[in-house]
Amino acid sequence: MNDETKITCILCPIGCEIRINKKNLFIIEGAKCEKGIEYSKNEVLDPKRILTSSILIKNGILPLISVKTNKPIPKDKLFNILEILKKTSVNAPVEMGEKIIRNILNTGSDIIATKTVKKSK
Ligand code: SF4
Repeated sequence: MNDETKITCILCPIGCEIRINKKNLFIIEGAKCEKGIEYSKNEVLDPKRILTSSILIKNGILPLISVKTNKPIPKDKLFNILEILKKTSVNAPVEMGEKIIRNILNTGSDIIATKTVKKSK
């Protein structure tokens, strides 16, 4: 069985294609720096992402407010968190950076607003 996988490093615009052995984390080729080596090992062991989405806002000048996680979260929790966000709504006004949900699904990450939405008149 082939234990090799290819990971695109997203830490800088170069976007190195790194080949890594999934079993022993041996870097086969492609990483141009230490940060990329660390990134590709983490991608194999515990891949994480910043999640961005929108939720409903009541009585606001807009119907939706954009939100994101304030820390990367495990990739395998993205779907469950999106399901929670679909059922979540907040009341206007909301300030950019305001915490909407703390420690979502015990990830240690908060859902925060990424824009300000004022109350409608
Ligand atoms: S490995 Fe280093 S040089 Fe390559 S994309 Fe990642 S951060 Fe950039």
